[in-house]
Amino acid sequence: MGIVILLACYVGIQSRMIFSLASIWPANAILLSFVLLRAQAVTALTWSVAAAAYVIADLTTGAPVNLALILNGANMVGVLVGAALARVLTLETLTLARPDDAIIIIFIMTCASVATAMAGAIIGPTHFNMDASHSFMVWLAAELVNYAIYLPVLLAANIGTTRRLRFFSANANQRNNQYAALACAFLLVGFMVLIGGPGSPNYVIPGLIWCAIVFRAFAAAAISAIIITFMLIAAPLGGIDLGYDLTDADALTSFRLSIAMIAIGTLAITIINSGWRTAHHNLEQLANQDSLTGLLNRGGTIEVLNNAVYRATPFCLIMGDIDHFKTINDTFGHNVGDDVLRNVGFELREGLGRNEGAGRIGGEEFAIVINGTLENAVRHAESIRKRLLGVEVFDAVEKPVPFTMSFGVAEFGPGADSVEMLRRADNALYLAKRTGRDRVVAFTEEIKQMVNSPVPDRRHNR
Ligand code: GH3
Ligand code: MG
Ligand code: MG
Repeated sequence: MGIVILLACYVGIQSRMIFSLASIWPANAILLSFVLLRAQAVTALTWSVAAAAYVIADLTTGAPVNLALILNGANMVGVLVGAALARVLTLETLTLARPDDAIIIIFIMTCASVATAMAGAIIGPTHFNMDASHSFMVWLAAELVNYAIYLPVLLAANIGTTRRLRFFSANANQRNNQYAALACAFLLVGFMVLIGGPGSPNYVIPGLIWCAIVFRAFAAAAISAIIITFMLIAAPLGGIDLGYDLTDADALTSFRLSIAMIAIGTLAITIINSGWRTAHHNLEQLANQDSLTGLLNRGGTIEVLNNAVYRATPFCLIMGDIDHFKTINDTFGHNVGDDVLRNVGFELREGLGRNEGAGRIGGEEFAIVINGTLENAVRHAESIRKRLLGVEVFDAVEKPVPFTMSFGVAEFGPGADSVEMLRRADNALYLAKRTGRDRVVAFTEEIKQMVNSPVPDRRHNR
């Protein structure tokens, strides 16, 4: 962290252009993000190393000792205030995935900026020949814009975690949306540069909002950071003709604050959108999940089956039903019955891949959609059946409760839809029950005829 801050300070020192205040100063955001994301790991040593890195960067680039200490004291004050606030306001690590975090993050970076600006107001008159109020505003604008640019990217990246950072979506449709949003954002940057004028920084807003909606938090924050950094550097260098004089301290301050506000607005949308996306994903999973076994529920299973029928590549439907489950319930109680169901769920989940799925479609009835041939599916069902014989469930007095399961397997073929697949697998399962249970039976046309010939009250015989 010390080395990263040292490098960030060198970048900032290089960019110092006006009033010896850097326009690009990522070091404070880096330190604050580290403190926010790794709160447990922060010790007095962390602060000492950070302080040393700040001061060394200034000393090695020719700053006098007292100036190096004063400037970096002001930097550290802001980060310390931000860290203290985070500790008071939230027990959790701040992420960009909860809408409430948007308010906390924006509040923290505003207070950190104000703290540094107050330090600036004290040292402005003594060291920079500026009155206190001007000095306050210059520092406030510089701090706020830098936090607004870099803190979101750093929090979203959360470097050091094993999570993979994906910039574009894996989904082709969503990716096209993202290309369009990105093109729009950069087109508007082009407009800003070509047309110019006092209002031109606002031109990028629709592009940034579009990106905040279609990209994940990290990518959206990175795009915003790149565009706002460009504005922050290009405008004072004359690359964007704002129509007013940025060598005037008040004008520069106003410009920096205005683009900081754009970054903050974009950040709020990014966080709210990311929260909504996470909630949607979780709800979708919950809606398709059976809470007892952790398998898919009936709706989720039928969806996997429908998708398999739609794809029309070779697959099979395995249907399974626990044998004499009512007796298990009646003899050992519902809790033991539930335990059996959970264990079955655990075994059924095993060894399934992409586009496959196992679900609980009734009380003690299960279904598996598995790719490949009938032989493969029968082998799979057979191996589950055998594994279940070795599964140990115990009753209230620790006596083992044996149980078995019967399976019917149907292969997808021309003309079959989901309903037909369920019927075929059920026919095969019915025969497995009729011929002694604890077995796997594959569906054939003969079975269909046999099952569909009138048998009195056949459901009760199962
Ligand atoms: P068969 O071998 O013919 O399948 O006999 P069975 O007793 O397993 O079949 P039946 O359909 O008569 O009984 C199913 C039982 O499953 C009845 C019901 O009380 C029980 N059951 C359904 N859902 C649950 C559940 O969530 N937990 C428990 N413990 N039992 C359940
Ligand atoms: Mg049963
Ligand atoms: Mg049943």
